[in-house]
Amino acid sequence: MANTSRSQSLFEKSLKRIPGGVNSPVRAFKSVGRSPVFIQRALGSKLWDVDGNEYIDYVGSWGPMILGHAHPRIVEAVQKAAVDGTSFGAATERELEMAELITSIMPTIEMVRMVNSGTEATMSAIRLARAFTGRNKIIKFEGCYHGHADSFLIKAGSGAMTFGIPDSPGVTQATSTDTLTARYNDAKAVKTLIDNYPKEIAALIVEPIVGNMGCVPPKPGFLQTLRELCTQNGIVFIVDEVMTGFRVALGGAQQLYNIMPDITTLGKIIGGGLPVGAYGGKKEIMSMVSPAGPMYQAGTLSGNPLAMAAGIEMLKLLKKDTSTYSRLEEKSSRLENGIQSVIEKHHLPLTQNRVGSMFTVFFTKDHVADYETAKASDAKRFSMYFNEMLDRGIYLAPSQFEAAFMSDAHTDEDIERTIDAAEKSLLKTFQ
Ligand SMILES: *Cc1c(COP(=O)(O)O)cnc(C)c1O
Repeated sequence: MANTSRSQSLFEKSLKRIPGGVNSPVRAFKSVGRSPVFIQRALGSKLWDVDGNEYIDYVGSWGPMILGHAHPRIVEAVQKAAVDGTSFGAATERELEMAELITSIMPTIEMVRMVNSGTEATMSAIRLARAFTGRNKIIKFEGCYHGHADSFLIKAGSGAMTFGIPDSPGVTQATSTDTLTARYNDAKAVKTLIDNYPKEIAALIVEPIVGNMGCVPPKPGFLQTLRELCTQNGIVFIVDEVMTGFRVALGGAQQLYNIMPDITTLGKIIGGGLPVGAYGGKKEIMSMVSPAGPMYQAGTLSGNPLAMAAGIEMLKLLKKDTSTYSRLEEKSSRLENGIQSVIEKHHLPLTQNRVGSMFTVFFTKDHVADYETAKASDAKRFSMYFNEMLDRGIYLAPSQFEAAFMSDAHTDEDIERTIDAAEKSLLKTFQ
């Protein structure tokens, strides 16, 4: 086992001053029963921790690092911007450039507002949908994550048709009763909710490909049916592409599946690794946003020069070289096939889901299509596998219910090493 003594000592000190020792819960490695490694630096597909251990990284900062870490062009863009001042709180040309880039890549976005995180994007999108429709309720899907705003920290208590039960103390009952939840990939459940609350539902929000219960693709026609139901019932259709945008295709999942959201939320890749989010969509709806309209939303650091510089460079690189996506597909399918061979050779009770460069190995033998089936995974075995992989220099997300990400910087050798490590780790896990 690798020496991680410096990480351990930093974690012990962090526990005294930062809740749980981390600034975002999953970083604590709690569900995999060990203390986290502290990262010192990263380059391309690799991470190095403070004890000098090297890892092949499949977390990619939870999605943004599609071109690998410390891409020279993005680093240069940030450095150049910093010299001219890190924030003005005033309008800048870069913000226009970013807006023009986004609207050129995603034609369903006619106007866009920049914010500082995915959470801000979805939170604002919901407020906007409520302002636009004059209605209060929203529909979300069980197991979909849309950031940590109150309205989204809800899952169904029992089945799809109940009022939401808060997942976190501090979320009021009033808020949770306005959030209705349905089973992912179950358009009938959505229809029933709409019938039960006629003219009360402002918005439906969905991860077009779920990443936040592990990777779960939409069934054919599911997203199209949601679009139709929203159109028929005057509901704002919000497609949360914080993870999938610029990831599964340049134009995101909406390009891949040919769907037309009313509002799209973005984050992760759009910031090139800096804290950025955005929401945008139809001009008619976006014109409600202050100061064009009455729906208030603001931000001291929104459209920050460093963040815009990094994001613009990232989007330009992706736009210029669309073969990035075929390379990502080719590498990701090679990894998937390699692991599939291991699963079949050793008759392991595992199943895989993948869309492009997002994928998850689930520790269950049955197909995973929603929260129920994802939860059937053997979290204990996953935890053993995670630890075995980490000790072999493969950095996976420390949770069964997360997607892994391939980057353009991953090499053939990285993939071979990962398949080899996966075979050894799985044999240990199931011995
Ligand atoms: C990560 C994520 C968010 C939240 O974004 P943050 O930047 O972490 O606030 C929202 N929606 C989806 C689909 C995400 O994957």
